[in-house]
Amino acid sequence: AQVETLLEVNNIEVIYNSVILVLKGVSLNVPRGGITALLGGNGAGKTTTLKAISNLLKSERGEVTKGSIAYRGERVQDLNPADLVQRGVIQVMEGRHCFEHLTIEENLLTGAYTRRDGKRKVADDLELVYGYFPRLKERRGSQAGYTSGGEQQMCAIGRALMSRPETILLDEPSMGLAPQLVEEIFGIVKDLNEREGVSFLLAEQNTNVALRFAHYGYILESGRVVMDGAAADLRENPDVKEFYLGMS
Ligand code: ATP
Repeated sequence: AQVETLLEVNNIEVIYNSVILVLKGVSLNVPRGGITALLGGNGAGKTTTLKAISNLLKSERGEVTKGSIAYRGERVQDLNPADLVQRGVIQVMEGRHCFEHLTIEENLLTGAYTRRDGKRKVADDLELVYGYFPRLKERRGSQAGYTSGGEQQMCAIGRALMSRPETILLDEPSMGLAPQLVEEIFGIVKDLNEREGVSFLLAEQNTNVALRFAHYGYILESGRVVMDGAAADLRENPDVKEFYLGMS
């Protein structure tokens, strides 16, 4: 059976402040049911790519000046982020962005704001999120600002799940977290992918971990895709080993 392409980014160029060319023609596909990794070092353009997709560049004075972005075959470039959420695409930003003064549970409930299917379903989904993240259930009444970095990352993913997304754009989930927590979070991402059918586009500097959990990877360097392939192949590629996995 043919795999459906959910997200199709075709040759996009992004310019900040009308002069700084940051993405120089990036193309990538996110298939339904996959975990697709967007890899590359600091400043390669991963965050910019995700923000271009979810239309979050404007507040940074950034603009897509070339190329196209389609979701399920429809152009989404001019949608605002809330409309994109309605279509099933949500971004979890780097640095977590939970509301510090709200409790974990209140944070999760803010993720359901675009839903129109009633309180009962929202309550069911809260239980679903707590099923995947038992730590959040334990900390449900704590102010998010007082929880750990790992719990805040879980809260951010949990909140995204409350919108019942088809695709999550996940920016650097490993950032600042101890290796064991990174494993735990990636394990949950994998479960969500396999059991709930959520598709992921995952931006990561941690190539090693990302390629163990993803199905396919794109490697960005200075705003260009320099290599892409099945995760298993990239893991065995000599250049990837030398430059990104620290082995040679
Ligand atoms: P990181 O892991 O640091 O987020 P990244 O691969 O996600 O890296 P981007 O954040 O997309 O990279 O940044 C790509 C380039 O664009 C960098 O050179 C950065 O300095 C530049 N850049 C990012 N945001 C802006 C902005 N608002 N204005 C001007 N330049 C920017």
